[in-house]
Amino acid sequence: MTENNEQIRVAVIGSGPAGFYACEHLFKQDEHNFIIDMFDKLPTPHGLVRTGVAPDHQKIKSVTRVYDKIASNPNFRFFGLVEFGVHVTIEDLKKHYHIVIFATGAQTDRRMNIPGEDLDGSHTATEFVAWYNGHPDYVDYKFDLSQEKVAIVGVGNVAVDVARILCRTEAELMETDITDYALEALKKSNIKEVYLLGRRGPAQAAFTNPEVRELGNLDDAHAITRIEEVELDEFTKELLEKEEDRSLVKKIEILNSYSEDIEFQKSKKLHIRFLVSPTEILADEEGKVRAIKLVKNELYRAEDGSLRPRPTDETEELEVGLVFRSIGYQGVPLPEVPFHEKWGVIHNEKGRIIDPETGEHICGLYSTGWIKRGPTGVIGTNKQDSGETVQCIVEDIESGHHLSPEKPHPDHILELVSERQPDYFTYEDWIKLNELEVSKGEEQGRPRVKYTSIEEMLNAVKKNDEAANGG
Ligand code: NAP
Repeated sequence: MTENNEQIRVAVIGSGPAGFYACEHLFKQDEHNFIIDMFDKLPTPHGLVRTGVAPDHQKIKSVTRVYDKIASNPNFRFFGLVEFGVHVTIEDLKKHYHIVIFATGAQTDRRMNIPGEDLDGSHTATEFVAWYNGHPDYVDYKFDLSQEKVAIVGVGNVAVDVARILCRTEAELMETDITDYALEALKKSNIKEVYLLGRRGPAQAAFTNPEVRELGNLDDAHAITRIEEVELDEFTKELLEKEEDRSLVKKIEILNSYSEDIEFQKSKKLHIRFLVSPTEILADEEGKVRAIKLVKNELYRAEDGSLRPRPTDETEELEVGLVFRSIGYQGVPLPEVPFHEKWGVIHNEKGRIIDPETGEHICGLYSTGWIKRGPTGVIGTNKQDSGETVQCIVEDIESGHHLSPEKPHPDHILELVSERQPDYFTYEDWIKLNELEVSKGEEQGRPRVKYTSIEEMLNAVKKNDEAANGG
């Protein structure tokens, strides 16, 4: 058991919101002296706040100020460009830390499992999002924006982000920190019609009200719904007669307002469709996407009480040259960490990582965020989630359950990391890179201009250091 005020060394894997909130909760524990090293496979911290949150949602991104404050704690170190499973293994971490927390998020997409899903021109939303946000692994991806019509499958907030970015004008995009190459590609885009495809009705749509309202305020695109598709199903009508749900009533009002007859003055149309499921993506002679086949659904009440879609015999073919699948993220297994394949999360109970064979907590190992609970909720949801994990950590520490590292001195892991990844990025490096990006942005009247390749990031910081040292 650690003595009071004895250092408890913690490794946090992943530097997104969940990882940072776990640090914040740990640092608030006055009874214990937590010393934290955070690792990320990218040089830059902040996870999806940098590589996922839409570039036209700058206000949401300002949450990083909170993370900078957490990182300024003298008991915090950042090791960017250090990948778990590549540069450090679970065995390494067990030798250096009392506690290891996995906060790696959900890094891939769910699959639709329909024919044509992998055709040329059919992409996952996460690829597109990571591309326009400058995730170094996605900068070379290509999207054929010469197409006039695009379908986005799913009606969650990610689908809405993708639709908005496709519909924004150059002037609107200039106010964002979208990457230079995405801005150039979108400037030349030929896209005229975007279809958001929901498999259930408007009342079951996953997008939130501010996000769907924003679709009605785009400079050069009309949001459009079909009156027959935004009509409420009998189950929801019944529910609303019994109880008030203001947020739902508002959502339906917004969607109804998009079905009104308008004079089309804007050059793009953003169709929000409901009660349709893709059954196949169809190819042209060259093997590229030419259309998406849809079946009309009806809703039924499933055994668990939820309203589920079921196909009718009505079908349609929607001619589109590009498809984005935006049906939810999916966690990726980590080496040597028990993973629940079906749920796409680490096996855990309240954040304690569980051995699925014994049902016992694996001493010292914890999870938080999307890799713990699945890809749901907004950024702030992770604060509460990390609070739960940290509460378990504190309880376990107090009852003597933690790892007993052979090499607990902070210099030991520094030596190991320096040997395996000499180019590792510190938080100070990130702060410098951030300043460089922001000042590049200022020159163009934009919030920032991002560095997008790892080499560029390393060189920029190196040059900056050399200049500061008079070199
Ligand atoms: P999501 O909210 O889970 O939405 C997924 C969508 O895909 C739902 O409409 C779902 O329909 C649909 N879907 C699932 N399987 C399907 C299938 N086989 N065929 C057709 N449609 C299918 O996921 P997300 O949009 O990826 O967002 C992830 C989380 O990040 C959410 O909590 C979201 O709110 C959050 N986020 C927030 C913001 C923001 O605050 N601005 C921005 C982006 C993301 P069903 O409902 O019928 O399953």
